[in-house]
Amino acid sequence: MAANPAAINTSVLGNLDFNLEELRARYAEERNKRLRTDGNDQYVEVAGELAAIADDPYVQRVERAPLREKVEVLIIGGGFGGLISAARLAQAGITDVRIVERGGDFGGTWYWNRYPGAQCDIESYIYLPLLEETGYIPREKYSYAPEILEHAQRIGRHFKLYERALFQTLTRSLRWDEARNAWQVETDRGDHIEASFVILSSGPLNRPKLPGIPGLSTFKGHMFHTSRWDYDYTGGDSTGGLHKLADKRVGVIGTGATAIQCVPYVAKHAGHLCVFQRTPSAIDVRGNKPTDPDWAGSLKPGWQRVRNHNFAAILSAIPQAEDMVKDGWTDLFKALGELLNKPAETGMKPEDFALLAEIADFRKMNQIRHRVDEVVKDPATASALKPWYKQWCKRPTFNDEFLPAFNRPNVTLVDTQGKGVERITAHGAVVNGVEYPLDCLIFATGFEVGTAYTRRSEFEVHGRNGVSLSEYWARGMRTYHGFYSSGFPNCFHLGLTQTGLAPNFTYMLNEQALHVAWVIDAVRSRGAKRFEALPEAEAAWVQTVSKPGFMSEYQTTCTPGYYNAEGKSGQGEGFLEGQYGEGPVQFYTLMEKWREQSDLAGLVIS
Ligand code: NDP
Repeated sequence: MAANPAAINTSVLGNLDFNLEELRARYAEERNKRLRTDGNDQYVEVAGELAAIADDPYVQRVERAPLREKVEVLIIGGGFGGLISAARLAQAGITDVRIVERGGDFGGTWYWNRYPGAQCDIESYIYLPLLEETGYIPREKYSYAPEILEHAQRIGRHFKLYERALFQTLTRSLRWDEARNAWQVETDRGDHIEASFVILSSGPLNRPKLPGIPGLSTFKGHMFHTSRWDYDYTGGDSTGGLHKLADKRVGVIGTGATAIQCVPYVAKHAGHLCVFQRTPSAIDVRGNKPTDPDWAGSLKPGWQRVRNHNFAAILSAIPQAEDMVKDGWTDLFKALGELLNKPAETGMKPEDFALLAEIADFRKMNQIRHRVDEVVKDPATASALKPWYKQWCKRPTFNDEFLPAFNRPNVTLVDTQGKGVERITAHGAVVNGVEYPLDCLIFATGFEVGTAYTRRSEFEVHGRNGVSLSEYWARGMRTYHGFYSSGFPNCFHLGLTQTGLAPNFTYMLNEQALHVAWVIDAVRSRGAKRFEALPEAEAAWVQTVSKPGFMSEYQTTCTPGYYNAEGKSGQGEGFLEGQYGEGPVQFYTLMEKWREQSDLAGLVIS
């Protein structure tokens, strides 16, 4: 794919201070070490004897009588997707809404992920939604989890959503009732809700997963998943103070975005900490700072959408006069954006562009690897912590405390050389034949991706003629514009369902919520009772999102992970697959134009 460097104008190429071929070979070698035939099947479902791992450790279950009611809109999920949807519906004058949420409060991912150090690595001023509406300015450039959870609660109060919420309630089934033009919804609390419209917003990374390591259930020590942090056991809270770990030997399995944030806190308090690493993360500078009150005071109405759009545009390689957020994300994308726009300016050949993009990628990753050497004192540990893959193969991370944790005498990096933990015994974890004795095992092993949608959401949806969503999507998702499936009237999917994926998730959710509120309003104002996607519109959209885009091509040579379905990209199961290939800004602009046309093209209403 890449051209011979000699064929490229040297002024464009610049002087390389590394050996291209050596790096390519090293990346391929590291990827090969990690490829495995079982892909996603290497993980075990948190069910059966492991089910308790997903129990809510934060609040006691409150008993209540079952509810029977009829509402206009039922929203499943009280995370930011559900909250923003309810807010945008309220702004469109639709307030007869019910929100059903599994957790004991609003917040979604921020309700569950309360591990010490949990922080959003997207700038708070664009990540925290509805800031202008709620009159709140975050305290720092990057908010920690408690502030984000508080903000979810603030949205709930501001839009009077608490009175509309059923917490600690799991939706079990949704059944379309053709005679009544409504959904009949059942929950695990015996509720029965009839809803004219439903919005499914249960989130993309909601179901914790565990590695299928032999012996997992034989461990006699304490164990939990990072998304269900056991503060009774560790002591302290999200801000730290894990004093009960002082005499404990703790193991953290995983070194993804979550581990990067919680490891420094465990390291500070544990008697001894072993971090079991399969693949190192790429860790760039965090550089958090308090909010400048002068800046906050200077903001003009509409600022949040403008800032969010600016960020999303830079991340979609759309040139902007100014970089408002100026952080690690925009830094990563600006280089790529400049390159992407170069071919048009210079008449550059596609293969020359591919090589330049590869070089920019190598440069960024060299910088990341260099940082490891600068921070980590022991050369062998530093060497093991270096990531050898392209920058978008795994979720980029930003943190200033993880790497220094390995300079502590009570912290050991157990590098599994890409193979993972070999075995778990009653008293520890085994790697390379060596048993590491442990009192506590913390799984920072992430969330299900690529498993069936209805398995992850834990509810089934039966559309017209009783067809289930599981059956309908058995061979892959099928939607029109990502929101609607043919045969499932008055039902909206929200999130990563063939829409436009943006690193700032709430940007996406906000644009989606605006769209959904507009469609419901449009259907009602036409005096209609139902709408449904036309099969041909859906088929055309599935074709559109199935075209190999830049990212899906890119992922084929990546080290395995959930972005590329554990090395099995091309089958539609990777996190980055099956989305609108042109990018999020282009996708939401397309939706805006569709709304402006006002003819509900592709939908049939009656
Ligand atoms: P990830 O899926 O990103 O990481 C799981 C980790 O577990 C990986 O390091 C993986 O290694 C490792 N692992 C899996 N199986 C084994 C095994 N058998 N032995 C040893 N290690 C194993 O989950 P996270 O919870 O870290 O992050 C999930 C996502 O949540 C992020 O990617 C991000 O999108 C989001 N997040 C966002 C944050 C934010 O700031 N906004 C903060 C935290 C999370 P390998 O890489 O080899 O598969």
